[in-house]
Amino acid sequence: MVGAGHAGIEAALASARLGLDTILFTMNLDSVGNMPCNPSIGGTGKGHLVFEIDALGGEMGRAADLVTLQNRMLNSGKGPAVHSKRVQADRAAYHVLMKHTLETTDNLRLYQTEITDVLVENGAVSGVVTALGAVFECKAAIICAGTYLNGRVIVGEHAYPSGPDGLLPANSLTASLISLGIKTMRFKTGTPPRVLKSSVDLGKLEIQHGDTDIPFSALTDEEELAKRPDIPCYIVYTNEKTHEIIRSNLHRSPLFSGMIEGVGPRYCPSIEDKVVRFADKERHQLFVEPLGENTEELYIQGFSSSLPADVQVQMLHTLPGFEHALIMRQAYAIEYDCIDPTQLYPTLEFKDISGLYGAGQFNGTSGYEEAAAQGLIAGINAALKIKGEEPLILSRMDAYIGVLIDDLVMKGTNEPYRIMTSRSEYRLILRQDNADERLTPEGYRVGLISEERYEKFKEKQRRIEAEIQRAELTTVKASDELNRVLEEAGTAPLSAGIRLAELLRRPQVTYGLITEFDPTRTESKRILQCAQIRIKYEGYIKKQLAAAERQKKLENKKIPEGLDYSKIPGLRLEAQAKLNAIRPKSIGQAARISGVSPADISVLLIRLGE
Ligand SMILES: Cc1cc2nc3c(=O)[nH]c(=O)nc-3n(C[C@H](O)[C@H](O)[C@H](O)COP(=O)(O)OP(=O)(O)OC[C@H]3O[C@@H](n4cnc5c(N)ncnc54)[C@H](O)[C@@H]3O)c2cc1C
Repeated sequence: MVGAGHAGIEAALASARLGLDTILFTMNLDSVGNMPCNPSIGGTGKGHLVFEIDALGGEMGRAADLVTLQNRMLNSGKGPAVHSKRVQADRAAYHVLMKHTLETTDNLRLYQTEITDVLVENGAVSGVVTALGAVFECKAAIICAGTYLNGRVIVGEHAYPSGPDGLLPANSLTASLISLGIKTMRFKTGTPPRVLKSSVDLGKLEIQHGDTDIPFSALTDEEELAKRPDIPCYIVYTNEKTHEIIRSNLHRSPLFSGMIEGVGPRYCPSIEDKVVRFADKERHQLFVEPLGENTEELYIQGFSSSLPADVQVQMLHTLPGFEHALIMRQAYAIEYDCIDPTQLYPTLEFKDISGLYGAGQFNGTSGYEEAAAQGLIAGINAALKIKGEEPLILSRMDAYIGVLIDDLVMKGTNEPYRIMTSRSEYRLILRQDNADERLTPEGYRVGLISEERYEKFKEKQRRIEAEIQRAELTTVKASDELNRVLEEAGTAPLSAGIRLAELLRRPQVTYGLITEFDPTRTESKRILQCAQIRIKYEGYIKKQLAAAERQKKLENKKIPEGLDYSKIPGLRLEAQAKLNAIRPKSIGQAARISGVSPADISVLLIRLGE
């Protein structure tokens, strides 16, 4: 594995835990699991990925639970499909925990060195070369090089070769990959300043506490998570003075002077980008986040910038409470090389180089969670291939991990790709609460979920079914007290007893609302949450499952390897070119390639004798 970031960690742990001799290279052991951006894990869509990583036997969920500083469920006022858990994570503790987990894993060696070359023989990877000239032979290699390849940091008029957080860049590997025929792209991302807590008047800011105690990992119980601190975040807003300073310095912005060539993330714009793009907005919301229990550094989410250092100080001092704030780390932008992910199969193996895989930011994504999900899939598939076993390919109907990888390898991306719930056609069946139901059997099949954990998983499914049964069979007695509670919640009082499940089907009613009227209840919060969603959305879930089944049929219509689309009469030229370039494995995949029309799919189906 080249890279011990969020992708490399999951890839290495998966490969080693599946019994493969594994070596994990990183430029700097003190940056294992580094969070160069916001010290948080999860969020809209990203929370779903973390639950899915855990359900498959990955590590991020468990680690995040153990270093949680604050725990929130975003979108809890909306439907369960978009409920997204997000934790503030202790950045330093996450690094220490992940490094120690790697160090204490059998079959796994950690090694600090720069990889400069990938060796290929007869179309298959055979080894990697270090900057010191050492050659490590291998049957598979996974590149998880993040934001380091030809890393270039830009702050105002200044630009210099660097990785994130002042770490060394990797300036040789891209050339080696290009010499192997791999197409690369230049992307960019940015981060805000870190500020000294004691230099901020927090009293002038809005405080925000955590609001949930559901853990990410099936290995973490609610009591254990409840013992974690609840360190607050704060909310502050920019104002006209902030915007004026930014506008009057746009001529010094590398973003607008053309000094930055890399393409940045649309969904994570810098503050100067927001001020220009949303000129009508009077203020922009910023979140002030703690970086750890044992540090005074604060992170200002939403204040990313590459404006000159002096301008950063001026604009910071316009924020209420920050009038005398002291910057500990400058905001900056970083450019780096990554690859065009349409060169990969859904296993994340390169189509043209057997045994070479890509994962994480290297594949054109942005985000710890997206990186970890890809690392896990690449690690599992590299191991399964070496063991001669069936690969693990998750479809868009199975998981957000499937949506992420399918979007990358089928459509590609021309900016750092981040997951969002809106990217899925099957949001209601791809919820956080059923990630284990969808994926733990697969984790067990590939060998990452132990027998003991699998039994616990099956027991949990049995308990959910039993709770739904109980709710269907239990009658809740009508009473004045209950009716008062129901009317306060804005739903009709009862004139007679009602099945618990029937009551729960009312939008306003939850298990929490009627606890005292449900004496036979015994289950934990996690089981009740799962049962409640299945009871309330039963009809919609059934409908979406049927749609997913129909799509699965198209996904299972396999396309024979090596089909030459230019020889299929009736296919449009654009479709022939796209299909020959991407080489889809199924009709379902072919249908998602941009430039391939439904008419082209009908021609293909006829050609395949369907
Ligand atoms: C400044 C900045 C701002 C960001 N802002 C955001 C944001 O706003 N939102 C968001 O979602 N994400 C953001 N990110 C991205 C987020 O940090 C990454 O998505 C995530 O860290 C990617 O994980 P990874 O494992 O792919 O790579 P990284 O975490 O970057 O890890 C890469 C690893 O590869 C190693 N490595 C690289 N090249 C070599 C080599 N040749 N030989 C040996 N080892 C090598 C490095 O030492 C490191 O261990 C930001 C990143 C940076 C740097």
